[in-house]
Amino acid sequence: MSEKSVPFSKQQLESFEKQWPTPFHIYDEEGIKENARRLNRAFAWNRGFRNYFAVKACPNPVLLRIVAAEGFGGDCSSLPELEMCERMGVTGESVMFTSNDTPAEEFVKAKAMGAVINLDDIRHIDFLERVAGLPELVCCRYNPGPLKGGNAIIGKPEEAKYGFTREQLFEGYRKLRDGGVKRFGLHTMVASNELNPQYFIDTAVLLFDLAVEIQKKLGITFEFINLGGGIGIPYRPGQEAVDLERVGAGVAEAYRERLIGQGHPDLKIYLECGRMVTGPYGFLVSRVRHLKETYKSYAGLDACMANLMRPALYGAYHHITVMGKESEPHTVIYDVTGSLCENNDKFAVDRELPVLEVGDMVVIHDAGAHGHAMGFQYNGKLRSAEILSRADGSAVEIRRAETIDDYFATLDFAAAAALPL
Ligand SMILES: *Cc1c(COP(=O)(O)O)cnc(C)c1O
Repeated sequence: MSEKSVPFSKQQLESFEKQWPTPFHIYDEEGIKENARRLNRAFAWNRGFRNYFAVKACPNPVLLRIVAAEGFGGDCSSLPELEMCERMGVTGESVMFTSNDTPAEEFVKAKAMGAVINLDDIRHIDFLERVAGLPELVCCRYNPGPLKGGNAIIGKPEEAKYGFTREQLFEGYRKLRDGGVKRFGLHTMVASNELNPQYFIDTAVLLFDLAVEIQKKLGITFEFINLGGGIGIPYRPGQEAVDLERVGAGVAEAYRERLIGQGHPDLKIYLECGRMVTGPYGFLVSRVRHLKETYKSYAGLDACMANLMRPALYGAYHHITVMGKESEPHTVIYDVTGSLCENNDKFAVDRELPVLEVGDMVVIHDAGAHGHAMGFQYNGKLRSAEILSRADGSAVEIRRAETIDDYFATLDFAAAAALPL
């Protein structure tokens, strides 16, 4: 069971706050590293196993380097993500390019970097060939449609915009083979924030069976199978983290029986997890700015949905710890809000918390993925700093807070001021 504890003391956070006023995001470097190692160990049975960190979860070059040092690649779906990887020395086949509705220049860039191109659609074969030429290695994204149950965030596969149908996959690999492609990968991504370990094992079985069928029909063999991302994290106290050892062992068993046992040669297993890599190791630190009693009790923070919009976007639960009041009884029901002029700018609705006072420090958990990354500037709200905490108790800034000048940077005030009033 997850207990939802904060890996920093109140004194530590208060000392960081002197340099970086709240709100700020803080990431636990050791936590990220240990977790990356745990994932690698769970799949150590597979030669060439690799997790491609989904850069979108937390696009910060320092965090990218940290996970790359643990052997992770980068999973990208835009030009800036590709470029961030390249600048950080994550390039060539250490990059998986899994995009959809892809612009030509992204295929050109991915091909130039030697990234593994994962196609989302059968028509992209011709498109890629025309704009960049077919690379030696190509992967296709499978959408199993009704053959696989979906989950809440991605939804049912047959309603999802991603991937090839089963029929298109056979046609696509034939076309690629006949077009001179020599090396092949197979990918699917059907879950998001899934906590059931069996789900990932079932996905592996589905792909292994499919790979064997394609091998037999088309005479091609796969160099890797990418099981996608989607490993969930226990946002709520009482939820259990995915047992990675169990997933690794279950996939290993399926690999032996359904793939090797069926005559397919050894291949590499890839994942492209983002959320589970940084999510639980990132925290949004904020202070209570105002308290308000009307029909409900409100605690207004100095953070808002510009810093973390998952609760507003998905109704997602994020645990909240009030620093220094961890053992006090949770006797008051609050809506914990930000200052945006949007009624859904709430980090929590009807949350039982200790009695709050103005100035209390609150820590919002599991903000390390799709937290800062999803931030926006609506209503003139600026995105906060990102801080990395080190094993020795020190901390460094890995992204400064935005300023009003950043917010205005794309505007031309002089041209506006020249207009008649
Ligand atoms: C978002 C995404 C991922 C990462 O998903 P997580 O839930 O963060 O593990 C992986 N692959 C693709 C194609 C994605 O869009």
